[in-house]
Amino acid sequence: MKCQLLIIFAVLINFSILEEHNSTDTTQIEGFLLCKSCGADNSILNLIINNRISEQAVNVQNLTVSNKSIIVQELTNPLGVRFKVILTKKANCFKSKGGWYSGGSWFNKYSWKLCQCPTCKAHVGWMFELTDLVYRNDPFFPGETGFYGIILDSVISESYADSLLMLDKLLQN
Ligand SMILES: [Zn+2]
Repeated sequence: MKCQLLIIFAVLINFSILEEHNSTDTTQIEGFLLCKSCGADNSILNLIINNRISEQAVNVQNLTVSNKSIIVQELTNPLGVRFKVILTKKANCFKSKGGWYSGGSWFNKYSWKLCQCPTCKAHVGWMFELTDLVYRNDPFFPGETGFYGIILDSVISESYADSLLMLDKLLQN
């Protein structure tokens, strides 16, 4: 436990260059993050968790979305594929019957399962829940102790989508 805390501390010091590290549990951003594949409205909700960084993160960056600073961590899956991931308290995922996996989790003591867009089934990230609780709570989705890791490349912000629509209209005129 002590060792674990030291690692977390070291990680935090490493990233002390990050400005505006948010001390609250979640950061609310305006608008929504939309599924990039189908643009499904409200597919991803907007409570961003900035204070939980995986010990396995190979890089951590600050990104500004809707004038709010959010943390993006780069994580590598067992196949060696690297993802830029943001953590959110809520997201809408397809109600999959797939089980939870405790192996290969990026977050200690948490199990994971895939999060697919409920509209087009694109893989948009993962759900995480405490391993001790996954089969006691809702088997489909994380509960109060859980969270979601969303692949940055699989979503766009609503304001960015609006700006593209505006641009499209301007070009058509
Ligand atoms: Zn979709």
